Amino acid sequence: MALIIQKYGGTSVADAERVKEVAKRVLRYKKEGHDVIVVVSAPAGTTDSLIKRAYEISDTPNKRELDMLLTSGEQISIASLAIAVEALGGKAVSLNAFQVKFKTTEDHTKAEILDIDTELIEEKLSEGNVVVFAGFQGITENNDITTLGRGGSDTTAVALGAALNADEVEIYTDVDGVYTADPRVVKSPKKLEFISYQEMLELAVSGAKVLHPRSVEIAARYGINIHLRSSFDDSTGTIVTDEKKEKIQWKK
Ligand code: ADP
Ligand code: ASP
Ligand code: MG
Repeated sequence: MALIIQKYGGTSVADAERVKEVAKRVLRYKKEGHDVIVVVSAPAGTTDSLIKRAYEISDTPNKRELDMLLTSGEQISIASLAIAVEALGGKAVSLNAFQVKFKTTEDHTKAEILDIDTELIEEKLSEGNVVVFAGFQGITENNDITTLGRGGSDTTAVALGAALNADEVEIYTDVDGVYTADPRVVKSPKKLEFISYQEMLELAVSGAKVLHPRSVEIAARYGINIHLRSSFDDSTGTIVTDEKKEKIQWKK
């Protein structure tokens, strides 16, 4: 039995059908006997439209309130996925950053993670639940809601992996791996089976949004292997690691 963190990005939970597909995959892992924590992003387009809404109201929206607004997107996804898992006969509980005490700095819209209290997550796992956690959000010491910056759910997932000493961190997205260049922009780039933390960080900071730069930094610091793969099929993706590839076991 392993502890597996799976993160699903916006396109992977874009609508009811996609959420049901995610629930099926999650339950497949659960039936294999693993503990599963799922981190989800807001449905595709939701964060963009919430930002648009804020700027339609004001040219200078207060950043505390902007964070309060934006985190509502992830809450749509956690509740939807928990409902989907239960509809398939599984046991799931959604949790947000406030409930878990997922502590960050006070830098609204670009907060950094300070501390994660793992107690409630561990309790819910031990009761047999799939834990569905809201990506991208945190709380300050004063219980104000923060966000980790655009694309920050990847960082939520890897930080949880570090805090809980997870066996695997899988990031599910809409491409089947990390390529030498953005496959949606460049024609026929090469898919990488493995990529080092340093190379991945360089890609991420140069704007390849496939992984949030901070998630790669945390993975490097704690030696966490990230398996980046597609939620649209079962193919293996790319492993971000500094380990020798012979030592890596693929999770099918
Ligand atoms: P998610 O919503 O799942 O977090 P993102 O849109 O943040 O997904 O990241 C996935 C996107 O990253 C892909 O759709 C792809 O267009 C883009 N991307 C940019 N550079 C790369 C790259 N080198 N390899 C793979 N995908 C890349
Ligand atoms: N929903 C947030 C965003 O669109 C966080 C994420 O997707 O990782 O940036
Ligand atoms: Mg992303």
